[in-house]
Amino acid sequence: MKYFSTRGGDELLSFEDTVLTGLAPNGGLYIPDHIPQLPENWQEKWSSYSFVDLSTEILSLYISPEEISRAELRALVEKSYKTFRHPDITPLKKLNEKTFILELFHGPTFAFKDVALQLLGNLFEFFLVRRNKNKTAEEKKEKLTVVGATSGDTGSAAIYGLRNKENISIFILHPKGRVSPIQEAQMTTVTDPNVHNLAVKGTFDDCQDIVKALFGDHEFNKTHRLGAVNSINWARILAQTVYYFLSYFHIRSQLPASSQHEIQYVVPTGNFGDILAGYYAKRMGLPMGKLVVATNSNDILARFWKSGAYEKVDSSSSNALQSEATSPASGASDGKQALGGVKETLSPAMDILVSSNFERLLWYLAYENTHGENDNEKRKKAGETVDSWMKKVKNDGRVEVPVSVVESARRDFVAERVSDSQTLDTIRSYFNAEPSYIADPHTAVGLTAANIVSSTNPPSTVQIVLSTAHPAKFSEAVTRALSGSTNFDFERDVLPEEFKGLLEKKRNVIDVEAPKVELVKEVIERFANSLKNVPN
Ligand SMILES: *Cc1c(COP(=O)(O)O)cnc(C)c1O
Repeated sequence: MKYFSTRGGDELLSFEDTVLTGLAPNGGLYIPDHIPQLPENWQEKWSSYSFVDLSTEILSLYISPEEISRAELRALVEKSYKTFRHPDITPLKKLNEKTFILELFHGPTFAFKDVALQLLGNLFEFFLVRRNKNKTAEEKKEKLTVVGATSGDTGSAAIYGLRNKENISIFILHPKGRVSPIQEAQMTTVTDPNVHNLAVKGTFDDCQDIVKALFGDHEFNKTHRLGAVNSINWARILAQTVYYFLSYFHIRSQLPASSQHEIQYVVPTGNFGDILAGYYAKRMGLPMGKLVVATNSNDILARFWKSGAYEKVDSSSSNALQSEATSPASGASDGKQALGGVKETLSPAMDILVSSNFERLLWYLAYENTHGENDNEKRKKAGETVDSWMKKVKNDGRVEVPVSVVESARRDFVAERVSDSQTLDTIRSYFNAEPSYIADPHTAVGLTAANIVSSTNPPSTVQIVLSTAHPAKFSEAVTRALSGSTNFDFERDVLPEEFKGLLEKKRNVIDVEAPKVELVKEVIERFANSLKNVPN
């Protein structure tokens, strides 16, 4: 299996290079040269497999055994999911006859990103150790300096994925005092020597700009070999396909054998990584209905499926205003927005302007709607088409794709936008249901969208809603929704043991007094130089 860029070109990369490179030099994202089909009898063979068994099977379809042998792959997978608290890794829970919850938050930071980042960290380490193995004492060892900006969630998952990894150091920038106390504590209480938290006096955008500037600085990038762990990394998508399969088997074992159910996955979506993994599972042959894209009021994706325009700012914004005006206010701040910017919502991990992984889906849509002599020619044309679309988005803030392309997209997906007040209503209604369930706000966006689309589903449909975070991580929204309930107590009902006392633990954080690239460079260089004096 080789990988190529969504924006064309002749580059064909191994899995290893794909994972270590992240973003293609031409700005594209890497995709596999074909989508592998499932082996014969997979339904019977895999039906009682564990998460680790399934992960080994599925990943081996995308990674040549010459690159990572099956035994090595299994060991990597086992190591990655040892850190999870639940024996199923991603357990499935029944809420009612039609609705199941796939809990993805049993990893070390209580967020779904752990599923991918635990594996990514081990893959990085595996590749670097192998590259360095045959080096003599005089030869320079290959190292990776991971740099990222976070407003909370991604940072801690990345830190837990890379802590204590050989040949890798990680620098995570967060805006000082602007991250929720629990999320800040999760990041800054990790004291492994290769982990560096930088509290930058400034905003999240400042942090992001600094990271971009560092990656754009060729000299600095080359010296330190900067690496990214953001959701465009192919290994993250691949890791996430596994729980679609696992939950498929788990739901089947809970439904009457005689029944003919259609399974529908509903996915709270920001950068389109989680749901894209579902698309790959579907294309590989996992039986399912349309995938449901659930967005908050940062709804670029929901708008694409409705209009065929992929645009940062809603050019027909009267729609958005109307739906907001008709929902009860309940004190929600839905729609707080800097002009043309990202809206701040109660589900902040999905607050995006554009969805980076959507480009991968666009490539498949472009390919399907391309005519050409042969496959090679079609691929070439699809790459050119995606390149031109993404350039339009960059330059004009929008692109409109042909009707046939949106129609292809509608065959596999439906999309719904959910407001903050709907999110709060949903948290309340599932808390008051039997059995009672406390959803985090991102999961609640999914549950709301599930409910909206269920009215047009065939009666035999059962829904699996992906739950992307533990409710304790987003205490503000959960408390706001449930504080009026007499039988609700945050500490008793939500707060996990692991979070208790976290705020008092020793911190590992470096203050950066101004949002300046030079100050951040100094910190990175200081640690790089101190490493040089340590043997090995
Ligand atoms: C990252 C994240 C999402 C969005 O996932 P994408 O892959 O970016 O679509 C949803 N919920 C939570 C809690 C997240 O951390």
